Amino acid sequence: MLPFNFINASISKKISSLFALLLSFLLVVIIYSIYKLNLIDSEMKEVAYVDIPLNEIMSEIEMLQLEQHILLEKFELREQRKSEDFSIEQQFTYQKKQFKSLLDKAVKVIANSLSTHEIRYDLMAHQQLMAKIEVYHQKSDLFEQVLQSLSSSPLHSAAKLKQLEDMANDLEAGVTSILERIETMTLEAGRYTEKHEQEFKLVNVALGCCALILGLILTTYIIRLFHYRIVRIKQQIQTFESSLSDEERSLEKEGLRSSQDELVELEQELKLMMRRLTKEITNREQVEQQLLVLATQDKLTGAYNRHKWDEQLQVQLNLAKRGGQFSLILLDIDLFKLINDQHGHQVGDQVLIHMVAALKERLRNVDQLFRLGGEEFAILLPLQDAAAATHLAEVLREMIEQINHEDLPRYTISIGVTEYLKNDNEESIIKRVDKALYRAKSEGRNRVYTD
Ligand code: GH3
Ligand code: MG
Ligand code: MG
Repeated sequence: MLPFNFINASISKKISSLFALLLSFLLVVIIYSIYKLNLIDSEMKEVAYVDIPLNEIMSEIEMLQLEQHILLEKFELREQRKSEDFSIEQQFTYQKKQFKSLLDKAVKVIANSLSTHEIRYDLMAHQQLMAKIEVYHQKSDLFEQVLQSLSSSPLHSAAKLKQLEDMANDLEAGVTSILERIETMTLEAGRYTEKHEQEFKLVNVALGCCALILGLILTTYIIRLFHYRIVRIKQQIQTFESSLSDEERSLEKEGLRSSQDELVELEQELKLMMRRLTKEITNREQVEQQLLVLATQDKLTGAYNRHKWDEQLQVQLNLAKRGGQFSLILLDIDLFKLINDQHGHQVGDQVLIHMVAALKERLRNVDQLFRLGGEEFAILLPLQDAAAATHLAEVLREMIEQINHEDLPRYTISIGVTEYLKNDNEESIIKRVDKALYRAKSEGRNRVYTD
């Protein structure tokens, strides 16, 4: 695959690639947000399913601890007074059970959360906490046994009481350390969540700002790009306009409506330019047509000129060589010099104009009339043989003889006729028709001779 060349790409490709860039950036923002929200959600779950229950258990344990404290005080008091009060032991045992059940509950919460992977941070700490609770249970069971033994024997030694007190203190220290550990852990989890929330806010604000800046840059770039292109097109239109006449320009500018939208304005200018170009092309075509007429027609009479004669004779010869047929008439006004001399050159011109018009009227569309020079003319008759051409020549000769124009002198024409013969070329066929005309002249003029 070829590497994408941004500089040389089309405007639509440029815009779509820039938008693709912006959209992919926004996609990254969205993916990041989803990831972070998921993280925060799982952390919240951890707080809800682990830390909050642990905290609740913690406060209950604290309450129990307090109560146990009071109980121990009571127990010592009773021992000092040597009075029998078994309900304190019972209460002690009962409370120990409650302690045990609360701690078991805490273990259960942690174990459950560990198995469902709700605990994400510091797994070791949680496991250590469970181990610590286990140790506490063992100590607690031992304490209970000592308490039982003390309660069952009426004589309590001071040493036994001391041991009981030490054990109670040790247990309390164990509970306190468990509580501290739970507190640290829940605080830690809270801190993590808070940290991630802040991170999420910060990164999202930063990404949002980046997207905004990127969007602004892209929009500005696209606007500038369009502006630059429009200005360039307008300059080109102006260059084109400067080649037009002032009158033409002002006339066309009148039709232009001013608009705030550069593209609408450009569209109007382009439409105008297209109109001008169409006009220009039409003018050119007309000029070309006129040039063609000038290049192929005789100015005075409107008959085809010598240049066209050479071309068309060659065309007919080529066709005839491939099995076609054509005939040639060469005609010359008789004693034209006399007309000029007696009536003037202008009248002579009128005679030429009038004769061409009369001949054209009698000829078919496919026949072509040429002025070869002075008062000498030729007629090309495609697909006609000598007999048909001689007949036509006779008709034309008679027609001219019969013309009785009030402003023009009467005149006659002499005609030479020939048809295409095998292996004819330009020179041979002209030579033959020239000879025929010469014969017509030499035999008295106003006649047709066919060779
Ligand atoms: P012929 O019967 O033997 O053809 O006699 P002619 O007088 O017609 O022939 P000639 O060639 O002696 O004279 C041709 C004359 O035609 C001479 C020339 O001044 C005149 N001529 C040639 N071109 C024009 C033209 O364009 N206008 C006018 N008025 N006269 C022309
Ligand atoms: Mg003549
Ligand atoms: Mg002549």
